[in-house]
Amino acid sequence: MQLLSSSPVPERARDTKAAANEFATEHVRPNSAEYDASGEYPLEIVQEAQAAGLAGRYVPEAYGGAGWTLADRLAVVEEWFHADGGIGLALQLVDFGAKVVTMTGSPEQKSRWLPAVAAGDEITGLAATEPSGGSDLAGMTTTARREGEEYVIDGEKYWTSNGVVADWIVVYAQTGEPGHDGYSLFVVPTDTPGYEAEPITGKMGLRASQQARITLDGVRVPVENRLGAEGDGFYELASFFNYGRIAVAGHGLGLAAAALETAWEYVHDRELYDEPVADKQTVRHRLVECREQFEAARALAWQACDHVMAGEDPAFWASLAKSHATRAAEDIAQTAVQLHGGEGLREETRANRVYRDTKYPSIYEGANAVQRDLAYGHWPERER
Ligand SMILES: Cc1cc2nc3c(=O)[nH]c(=O)nc-3n(C[C@H](O)[C@H](O)[C@H](O)COP(=O)(O)OP(=O)(O)OC[C@H]3O[C@@H](n4cnc5c(N)ncnc54)[C@H](O)[C@@H]3O)c2cc1C
Repeated sequence: MQLLSSSPVPERARDTKAAANEFATEHVRPNSAEYDASGEYPLEIVQEAQAAGLAGRYVPEAYGGAGWTLADRLAVVEEWFHADGGIGLALQLVDFGAKVVTMTGSPEQKSRWLPAVAAGDEITGLAATEPSGGSDLAGMTTTARREGEEYVIDGEKYWTSNGVVADWIVVYAQTGEPGHDGYSLFVVPTDTPGYEAEPITGKMGLRASQQARITLDGVRVPVENRLGAEGDGFYELASFFNYGRIAVAGHGLGLAAAALETAWEYVHDRELYDEPVADKQTVRHRLVECREQFEAARALAWQACDHVMAGEDPAFWASLAKSHATRAAEDIAQTAVQLHGGEGLREETRANRVYRDTKYPSIYEGANAVQRDLAYGHWPERER
């Protein structure tokens, strides 16, 4: 069964989707259980994807990348998360910080930071969330104080993907009074004195992806490492997240497809007192309801992707797509585990792994409750 059909994917992104599908089938899916069990960062698979030209490709062609559009990104992450959420997240986030530089950096900054990512030589990240909370971007407390031609950064970041393995990360820090105009973004090489990262352990899902708790203690970066104007960081990050949330909708879709396929196979294979579980009408109805949820979420995600690419009410559409697809994934995975009976309660099964993974996208890049606040606040017809 191939639920991630190419029909909603625009023509121009179909080759990328096919390449991602081939890579995922060969390199990701067969290693899914092993990396989930070990919780290791899949460096080897990341390097294979870099060599195959499938990781770090969001960088514009002028700086050595493939100039992927948001449609390419969505097409690829659907495939990767279908194969495995943890490895998929690790693959996607190679150019997480690079995308911020692409959107906010000057031509000099892009020439300085992007080519090595596009060449597969560097891994990046973005550190916004802090131990005191990730939901309110205007509430972060890490500071960047200007001293002559340098900024001195102090504070703590939490849940930073690639915080340990990255070569550089983009740090979101307070440069003025708290509030929307009080934040800026900085490129921070991870070998800068005062940067310490320790991995977060004990995750229930997405185990192959790596997150860190970071301490920034008197970290000095030159003024040239500030992205955009001082005080623009909040707005820059808010518009960056409109792109990111379409990708997170893709996380939900990939996981939802995996869960539904697994559920379908299991109830048709499993004989219960001489008849397949699938012979029961309520089971069939549940499968159909899951399919309804999946197709609706996918149609919305691809429609939202078009709106975001066209710059039409991007905050509204990205929030809607993200919250709907990730919620659908949670519901469908819950059903998949239920239909597996006791077997679904074993960590080694695909249904169980997907179920654990689906809890994450509904929380990261802004919990779904925050997405609904955003969608209400950016309701298009009210703004006009
Ligand atoms: C696997 C993973 C990878 C991540 N990668 C990164 C990364 O690379 N960089 C980075 O900066 N961050 C990253 N994060 C952090 C992530 O973005 C935050 O976890 C998320 O934004 C929520 O912040 P929080 O965990 O502090 O929850 P809190 O802000 O403490 O919120 C807790 C809960 O409160 C509820 N809530 C919050 N606000 C509202 C509201 N307005 N209305 C109603 N309910 C509300 C929600 O249910 C929410 O889940 C990652 C997280 C995970 C799990």
